[in-house]
Formats: sequence, structure tokens, C-alpha cells
Amino acid sequence: MLALRLIERKRDGGRIEPGEWRALANAYAAGHIPDYQMAAFLMACYLRGLDRGETHALTHAMLWSGDILDLNYLERPRIDKHSTGGVGDKVSIVLAPLVSSLGVAVPMMSGRGLGHTGGTLDKLESIPGFDTHLSLEQAKRLVESLNCVLIGQTAEIAPADRKMYALRDATGTVESIPLIAASIMSKKLAEGLTGLVLDVKQGSGAFIPDLGVQLAQTMIELGADYGCPVVALLTAMDRPLGRACGNALEIEESILALKGEGPPDLMNVTYALGAEMLVLGNVAKDRDEARRLMEVAIGTGKAAEHFQKIIEAQGGNPAVVDDPAILPQAAEVELFPAPRRGFVARVEPRAIGKGIIALGGGRTTMEDRLDLSVGFVITARPGDWVEQGEPLATIFAKDRAGIEGGRLTLRNAIQIADEANPPLPLISHRVSSAGIETLAP
Ligand code: URA
Repeated sequence: MLALRLIERKRDGGRIEPGEWRALANAYAAGHIPDYQMAAFLMACYLRGLDRGETHALTHAMLWSGDILDLNYLERPRIDKHSTGGVGDKVSIVLAPLVSSLGVAVPMMSGRGLGHTGGTLDKLESIPGFDTHLSLEQAKRLVESLNCVLIGQTAEIAPADRKMYALRDATGTVESIPLIAASIMSKKLAEGLTGLVLDVKQGSGAFIPDLGVQLAQTMIELGADYGCPVVALLTAMDRPLGRACGNALEIEESILALKGEGPPDLMNVTYALGAEMLVLGNVAKDRDEARRLMEVAIGTGKAAEHFQKIIEAQGGNPAVVDDPAILPQAAEVELFPAPRRGFVARVEPRAIGKGIIALGGGRTTMEDRLDLSVGFVITARPGDWVEQGEPLATIFAKDRAGIEGGRLTLRNAIQIADEANPPLPLISHRVSSAGIETLAP
């Protein structure tokens, strides 16, 4: 009865009260509401929207549908970073060891590949032995000893969100600002954070290309409700981030980045987000000091060594940091040459992401097993001038058919034109409770 009453009220534009959100989330998490009713309710929410109070109440209801990682007894700042998802976005894998090596605890809970985007958990699992399925108790122990843990959303964390999100993914109800903000913040608040940094992606490869500022502001407000300061940077996803796109390939590039040899765009986004984390954690007084600290941690090898310790503690083979050849290797590797001379006008991230799925490196259903070795390393950047036949990228596939499919993907994704097409600024805005700052026009 509860579900039907709430579906009808939301459908007709009414409000849901805090106690009703709680009852709904708990009943759904416990299996007392069927998926068809929850799907109808979520569609009503998607179409009618949620006001500020309802968004808060939904976040609260999903947060308290499960356990939280109580780390208050650790007298250390606890800061996480969340990205709204992109192609080639391996920033978390660089940031978590880097920032945690500098004294900020990073209890990082990440997701799997979704739609055309890759997932941090899948990438980490390309490290032989690396276990992302830890219990909350095990996660606590690792944060205590190493300041860091890299895990997936456990069964105990926000179970109502876990079920609702899977349902939204299958019912066309993902792209709603209040539903996304409540979903992300319920999980992040369950990590017991003292601060959160958001990387909100903009451009054709982002999930909600034009609504980044609104999404950031909604999450900042939700964070403020819980005394958790949130800062967001709006970053470009009109091309892949860095060069490597694909699970094991991205781990290799992350290791290079931890050694100071990452591509400039990846390093700049990592430093910008890391600086926000270190300032929020009071480890640095400002962003310039934070950047210097990170450069030293990378330059001295401290950050890479810390990553080795985290890998070992989570059951992975730490030798991967010195020898990336331990990672799964593709059977077939081929260069992709420029079909003509001209400017690289676009490197379309959605096409690349879908190409990785076609190679077997991403999922079409939750049951799919991934080939973690496949993907692309794309060296051509928008704005580059290239000659016909010059290599633009390398394709990594499991067989010749994969190479053929990879060529097709790259022919569609990389457009060469007579004129350059200016890409979005890498980091355009900083959004915080103080307002919106333009960093690049
Ligand atoms: N990621 C989430 O965790 N939830 C959403 O709703 C969208 C992206």
C-alpha cells in the first residue's frame, strides 16, 4: 500500500515526507517492495523532480539503510574523491596512494564500469591478486595502518541505493540531478568522511554533459547538511583523459604517473584534485603548497612505494609497480595510422568507451567477464597536426577480429580535419559553498 500511495502522489506532483522516504528505502532494501513498483516510483521522481528537502531526505534514507564506516576515532582527516565518470579516467588510482602517503586518510569506495565509462574496481582487479571485496572491518584496519583502502560498495553500505541504482540503470532513470546526487552522497557519507572532492566531467563523454554545475551544487548542499565540506572541479571529458583507455593499460599509465611520467593532462587533473584534498584535510595551507608536497612525494618515489604497500595489503602482487609486464597482456597489438594529413579535430570518448566494450574490456551485462588486457593507447590529442600514416594510437586486442574492430572504432572516434577544433579547457570551474570560480574561460 505504501509504495502505491507514494507512486500516485509523486506522479501527480506531490511531495514525499522524510519518514516516508525512510520507510520506502528500508522496505525496498529488505525486499518488501517489488522492483516494478520501485521502477514506477523512480520514473515519477525522474519526471517530477525532487525539491531540496526531498533530496536531503532520500540521501538520509539511503545512507541509513545500511552501516557506515565509522572512522571518527582516527584523529586524521578522511577525504575521498569521486568522479562522475569518464573514459581514460584513472585519476583515483593515482590520487589515493599519493594523497594517503601525505597523511590524509583515503577510504575510497569505487564502482565498476558503467555505460561507456570504465570503473576503478575493474582496473584495480587487473593487478594479479588484488582484492576489492573487503568487509568494512578489513577496510577499517587498512585505513588505520596505511591511510588508504580501495574497495567496492560493500553489501553493508547504502543497500537501498545499491538496489535502486541497479534498477535506475535498467529503467532509463539515471540522468536526474537529485537522484544522482542522493545516490553518490549516500555512499560517500557512509565512508565517514571529513571532506569530499568531486571531479564533475563535462563534454560529450560525460553522463550529463551540460548539468555539471547544478550537480556539483546539489552535492555541496548535501555535504553541508552533514558537516562534510565538498569542493568540485569541472573537468573536460570531450576527449579521453591521458593516453591509456582500458583496464590494465590504465593501471600501467597510473604507475607511470606515480613515478612522475604520466601524460600532462592526467598529471594536471590529479594535482588539481589532490590539492583540494590536501587543503580540505589541513595538510597544506593552500593549493600551491599542496602541489609542492605532491611533487616531492612523486619525485622521491614515496607515492609509488606507498602504492606498492596498498597493493600488497589487498592481496595483489606489488612487483607490478616495478614491472608492469606482470599485468594481463593483449595477444595482438597494432599501430593505427592517420588516414590523412590535417588537424586532430576530435577524439570522441564515447566511441572509444564503446570500442573498449566491443573488444571485451567493458560490460554489456553485469555478468560479463572482462578481458582486462584490451583497449587503446591514444597519443593523438585534439589540436595536433598529423601527417598521413603517422601513428595516432595503438590497438590492444585478444585476436585479429578485435584489431579489425578496434580500427573501425578509431576511424570513427578520431576525426582529422583541415581546421583545429578547440577542445574544452581541462579544468574550467571550481565550485564550493563559497560559489563558482572560473578557472579557464
Ligand atoms: N553514480 C552513482 O553512484 N549513482 C548515480 O546515480 C550515478 C552515478
